[in-house]
Amino acid sequence: MFTEAIKSSDSASVSTGTASEPHALVLLRRASNRGYAIQPLRTGGAIVRYRRAGLGAPRLFVHTFTPIVPADPSSLDLSNLRLIDEVKTARFVGSDRYAAGVIEAGAYEIPPSQTERLAGQGFLVRGQDGSLRLTLSARLTLVAVAHECMDSSDRTTTWCSCGLAVHCKNAESADARRLGHLTAVAADFLDSLSPAFTAAVTAV
Ligand SMILES: [Zn+2]
Repeated sequence: MFTEAIKSSDSASVSTGTASEPHALVLLRRASNRGYAIQPLRTGGAIVRYRRAGLGAPRLFVHTFTPIVPADPSSLDLSNLRLIDEVKTARFVGSDRYAAGVIEAGAYEIPPSQTERLAGQGFLVRGQDGSLRLTLSARLTLVAVAHECMDSSDRTTTWCSCGLAVHCKNAESADARRLGHLTAVAADFLDSLSPAFTAAVTAV
């Protein structure tokens, strides 16, 4: 579940609502199809920006999707998420070694304390067959972490953790290029979601 906050450039007020995981996925896909700028967030949310023409100057709209429990993943959380994503099936199981349950991910076992951290940050959902899948939030977090951008002090140069480096004449152009990169990344991410993931999200 996400909180959705909507702000427009011609109004000081912010309207808020909630969006379920399937609804947020539909909204992000629609935004991507319309070419809106999408920025995945490390917290498991995303920011969507677009301009709409009307009378007078075009208005800028900003929709911010924030998970009800915003994530704050450690590097160990992130590697556990990548592990769960890579193996065919992951499940919550009882353990011979620990009092609490663990996640069995292929040949690996994620200990209870780490399992608890992943569950507590809303990264996992148990499907009808008992297997675990990553939530949309977990996937947005992974995309955001793979493309963390850093600007030079005058903001004319941006480096992305994927290796991209952009140098522009001014900060506005660099901002636009960075947002364009993140939007392309988000579009690729939304396109890459398997039909199985989409079906699992919408089946909830
Ligand atoms: Zn990047």
